[in-house]
Amino acid sequence: MATNPRLMPDEPRMFTAEVVRTARISPSFQRVTIGSAQLAEFDWHGLDHWFRLFFPRSDTALRLPEVRGRLWWKSYLSIPDEHRPHCSNYTVAGYRRFGEDAELDIDVVLHWHQGQLTGVAGWAATAQPASAVAILDQGVLFDPPRDTTDYLLVADESGLPAVRGILRDLPPDAIGTAIIEVPAHGDVRDVQAPAGVTVRWLPREASDQPVGAGALRALNSIEAPSQASYAFVVGESTLATEGRRTLRRAGLPKERITFSGFWRA
Ligand SMILES: Cc1cc2nc3c(=O)[nH]c(=O)nc-3n(C[C@H](O)[C@H](O)[C@H](O)COP(=O)(O)OP(=O)(O)OC[C@H]3O[C@@H](n4cnc5c(N)ncnc54)[C@H](O)[C@@H]3O)c2cc1C
Repeated sequence: MATNPRLMPDEPRMFTAEVVRTARISPSFQRVTIGSAQLAEFDWHGLDHWFRLFFPRSDTALRLPEVRGRLWWKSYLSIPDEHRPHCSNYTVAGYRRFGEDAELDIDVVLHWHQGQLTGVAGWAATAQPASAVAILDQGVLFDPPRDTTDYLLVADESGLPAVRGILRDLPPDAIGTAIIEVPAHGDVRDVQAPAGVTVRWLPREASDQPVGAGALRALNSIEAPSQASYAFVVGESTLATEGRRTLRRAGLPKERITFSGFWRA
């Protein structure tokens, strides 16, 4: 995953919380809302602010790694298998403070393996209120140069929470295009976006094309970016790497492209 260390907190903080509620918000998304007093200290930057999500794999108590500066992975691996929590990357889909407490929404893509909801999706669909979780703050990836004239945002469903957050927080006079591929028509959502940004939704529906193929086709069909455009391409790893290649071929300098493989098919 391409990350920009400059935008990551030097001393990322771990926040513990509890599941408050979960809800199916569209055919392919489960929203898990977590809350706690600690979360009220979370320094939310909006945009695509992301974090590592930890929760116990079974009925065990939540054991967390020690975080020293940006180091935590070795400590995570040193937790015995049976106590090591699940860990995956997610985006802040919503954040609200209420006095001493705060709530944070996580929009989890429901993905199935052999008919079963697996990984975080399985947890999101069944998580009970008061279940323990923790998040480790990782900052934002979105990093447009100051002289950016227009924006190009490309994502599959895993990047929808990131692109939604970016659209919400772009300057009101921003111009550009967002291409968002989702599994189904029912996953198309209201987004708050500047009037000058065209949002193109690409539901795959029953098609058996690989995730990201529609978004890549759409990217290939739009007008070439200018030398001062900025592109943000995230989602399945082929979408991210091929998207970057397409933009490089079209002449966009590499420092004007943020790309990140959010998952691998
Ligand atoms: C910065 C960042 C932010 C992210 N934000 C979000 C977010 O807000 N919401 C979100 O849903 N995801 C988000 N992701 C992607 C998420 O981290 C991955 O999808 C992750 O693999 C899910 O973990 P898991 O344990 O469910 O699956 P894993 O254990 O990683 O994988 C198990 C199986 O599930 C498959 N799989 C994993 N993800 C998907 C998927 N999305 N669709 C279909 N199959 C899949 C894998 O190919 C594998 O076969 C983000 C990733 C990054 C790097």
